[in-house]
Amino acid sequence: MDLNLTDDERDIRQWVRTFVEKEVMPLEQDVLTRERRGERGLPADEHKRLQDLARESGFFGVLTPEEYGGMGLSALMAALIEIELGRSFVPFRLAGDADNILYNANDAQKEEYLRPTIEGTRKSCFAITEPGAGSDARAIRTSARQDGDDWVINGEKTFITGGNEADFVMVFAVTDPEKHKEGRTGESVTCFLVDRDMGWTSHQIDTMGEWGPAALTFEDVRVPSSAVLGEVGKGFALAMQWIGKGRYLLPARALGGCERMVEMGMEWARNRVTFGEPIAERQAIQWMIADSAVDIEALRWLVLSAAWQVDQGQDSRQAQSMAKLYGGVHANEIVDRMLQVHGGMGYTRELPLERWYRELRLLRIYEGTDEIQRRTIARNLLKGHASVRGHLG
Ligand SMILES: Cc1cc2nc3c(=O)[nH]c(=O)nc-3n(C[C@H](O)[C@H](O)[C@H](O)COP(=O)(O)OP(=O)(O)OC[C@H]3O[C@@H](n4cnc5c(N)ncnc54)[C@H](O)[C@@H]3O)c2cc1C
Repeated sequence: MDLNLTDDERDIRQWVRTFVEKEVMPLEQDVLTRERRGERGLPADEHKRLQDLARESGFFGVLTPEEYGGMGLSALMAALIEIELGRSFVPFRLAGDADNILYNANDAQKEEYLRPTIEGTRKSCFAITEPGAGSDARAIRTSARQDGDDWVINGEKTFITGGNEADFVMVFAVTDPEKHKEGRTGESVTCFLVDRDMGWTSHQIDTMGEWGPAALTFEDVRVPSSAVLGEVGKGFALAMQWIGKGRYLLPARALGGCERMVEMGMEWARNRVTFGEPIAERQAIQWMIADSAVDIEALRWLVLSAAWQVDQGQDSRQAQSMAKLYGGVHANEIVDRMLQVHGGMGYTRELPLERWYRELRLLRIYEGTDEIQRRTIARNLLKGHASVRGHLG
């Protein structure tokens, strides 16, 4: 097992590290100020300026294949880049990525949806969750009824990231109610690519985070048969493909934030004096730092192992679920400890800790809650699909 990075990999990571330090972190105060005024922290034009700057140095479409103008990097590199980006809470993303399932599109759909999404001229959103179907995604009720050559979609989707900004949606609807009732989801659900101007509407849902997902309403939205992504009835597998693809990237981003928060905590502990000594001298504080450092190291290996398994073409689902679960639980413990190290200042809005505290809470909920990850992990073990000996056997 080679645990080293090649020179090229080191260079790529160093470039992102420097970019984050020089271009992204200096925006942090402005982001906090705007958010506290109830405005968008990183305005769209500022985001684009940063993305263009990164693109000038070739940083565009980390996981996007080179034939589509991307970098076509490995999952491991994508994880390392995400960790670096996560060191700042500024909601910056490199441009040039598109939803993995859009690569299943036919040629015409690729021109209409995939390439513009990569270029950033069109914005997508992914909609499976409904008011009555979250963890249990098989319980969706949004329907698509065939009418001549068209399909007519009715239903409501909720908590859709980017749903207010998107100009098209990848929406999952029941196209065979009989099979759906029998639980044959693999044959009953279809994915449609639907432009906003075909008639769906959205409204923002306020959350404890700094950005709101949206509820989407479909009322007799008529779409042509050319809107079907993949095959009629085969949409559920696409939904699982979308959710499963980058599960290791969510904890990777959180990991970068945790590194930064522990660095902040140590700096604070060295300088904050109580009872005549820096609090860094106290065992209670040292243990919080030590436990956090161990959690970070364990999370790093879970994330990198999951990414490595993706690159090897192995079935990485167990590893990805483990990384997502561990990241959700432990990133929340770390932000809580580092807020505690800062005492009253940690609770204020002068420091970004309370922001991280609110943001990281989401990691335990979306793209599979903690409980659902545990369910997946246990089922894989109990059914013999995975072993407690791990991927090395
Ligand atoms: C900010 C945000 C962004 C989101 N973005 C998107 C998006 O872009 N697209 C999209 O389609 N969805 C999105 N979601 C939806 C998200 O994936 C769901 O909220 C999540 O899957 C949980 O579903 P739920 O909220 O219906 O909770 P429920 O499924 O109702 O769960 C409630 C509680 O019960 C637990 N639970 C459920 N089933 C079991 C079980 N079998 N065993 C033990 N415990 C169980 C859950 O873990 C949870 O604690 C987003 C959600 C949020 C909050």
